[in-house]
Amino acid sequence: MSEYQLFIGGEWVDAASGDTFETVDPATGAAWARVPEAGADDVDAAVRAARAALADPAWADLTPGGRGRLLHRLADILRRDADGLALLESTDNGKLLRETRAQTAAIADHVDYFAGAADKIEGSVIPSGKPNFLVYTQHVPIGVVGLLLPWNSPLFLTMFKLAPALAAGCTVVIKPSEATPVTTLELGRRIAEAGFPRGVVNVVTGSGPAPGQALTAHPGVDKISFTGSTRTGIAVAKSALDHLAPTDLELGGKSANIVFADADLEAAANGVVAGIFAATGQTCIAGSRLVVQEGVREGLLERLVARARTIKLGDPRDPETEMGPIATEAQHAKIAAMVGEAVDGGARVLVGAGNGVTLPERGRFAAPTILVDVAPEATIAQEEVFGPVLVVQPFGDEDEAVAIANGTAYGLAAGLWTSDVRRAHRVAGRLRAGTVWVNSYRVLSYAVPFGGFGLSGIGRENGFEAIKGFMETKSIWVELTGATRDPFVLG
Ligand code: NAP
Repeated sequence: MSEYQLFIGGEWVDAASGDTFETVDPATGAAWARVPEAGADDVDAAVRAARAALADPAWADLTPGGRGRLLHRLADILRRDADGLALLESTDNGKLLRETRAQTAAIADHVDYFAGAADKIEGSVIPSGKPNFLVYTQHVPIGVVGLLLPWNSPLFLTMFKLAPALAAGCTVVIKPSEATPVTTLELGRRIAEAGFPRGVVNVVTGSGPAPGQALTAHPGVDKISFTGSTRTGIAVAKSALDHLAPTDLELGGKSANIVFADADLEAAANGVVAGIFAATGQTCIAGSRLVVQEGVREGLLERLVARARTIKLGDPRDPETEMGPIATEAQHAKIAAMVGEAVDGGARVLVGAGNGVTLPERGRFAAPTILVDVAPEATIAQEEVFGPVLVVQPFGDEDEAVAIANGTAYGLAAGLWTSDVRRAHRVAGRLRAGTVWVNSYRVLSYAVPFGGFGLSGIGRENGFEAIKGFMETKSIWVELTGATRDPFVLG
């Protein structure tokens, strides 16, 4: 059993209460690491450490280029340790080792990108319309940022926030999910090794909502950046609003993968599988609704059912495995309950547990599941499952496809499959989604803005502009003549 401590102010410390909790390998059900149970006191200590670091000349006086050099050093360390971190991440959340390896390799590139951006944030000189004034803007760090993360891609999603926040000159307190605390604590070690001053990055872990609530409610936090479920995100934003901390929210989705009759069906089938069965469907961008044109419905479903039946479920560390377990017991139960409710409501299971798929005996597994005959207003067609469950929604023409795709309260991502280039751009333009993939699915880059419409969130991560989300704009007015003015009239 590995043992961890909190990372606060550059020190490794136990929770003030001395309490700990165990994190479990979902593929085996065995507890494998023990981490601290942080309470409000520990969160307060972490926020204080981050505030002190903000004013510490070792960080505050560092040039943007200096911040960039520290980030490049971190990127090198993460690249060196990518395989080890991937193994820890797979053990914590059950994600395929081949995917966590790709993600830990990608985070080093992510950090390099923002390292390079750190010294390229420029203000501007503004023609204000006021004579005899020089007016310019500066972008300054917003301050202490609270980062709250889910369990499905802990390090990868942390880096969406952490890299631009550090490039901007902020200090942070990170609260990973209770289900996946280990790699964020491991990240703390690498932050120290890279040479970041004490308190610039702090990590608090805990089970249940208490540490997250303490962080979002803390008046010493200047901004919250949250990734997680829509319900929690709304609670987080309300709590942060009490002290006017702006909140970026990356939330859930119910994304449509639209297949037109003129699509390459082999490629589309592969993309639909990637959309819903990769990561065992535990991804915010899951293409959980197949919106398929009538003429190719049968042909596509035949392919999908055949492929779903051959998906290899098992240990995420086995290179042959294609779908690992469900990360948490609660999520496992939720998937079963939502599928059960859909079936009770008249949905038909084309493929699923006991219907072409046999689940491994040990571990928390869910079957790749395809449901047809689902009413558009059914919960399973409207709400995120966060599991390997595909709902099939047939359509006749393009207008109907767009209406179905846009017919939920979410708007995170969408895929569309067609060989007609005009249709591709026309439909992409009509979809209410933060990301649209044409003839592809589930591709992300540090350089490309990512975020959602509607209940999928507020704000965009990634891309050069993401740094500005961690900065305030300051306008500076310089009077150039020395003249006095009427003190009772607005200039
Ligand atoms: P979650 O339950 O909303 O939790 C997210 C984080 O918030 C966790 O660290 C959680 O801590 C913490 N938390 C829980 N209640 C809180 C409260 N009242 N105040 C402050 N913090 C609180 O989400 P999850 O189940 O971990 O992750 C799955 C969800 O994340 C899905 O809905 C998925 O779509 C979404 N997601 C979105 C994106 C995106 O970029 N749009 C990416 C990945 C995942 P505990 O874990 O300790 O409870």
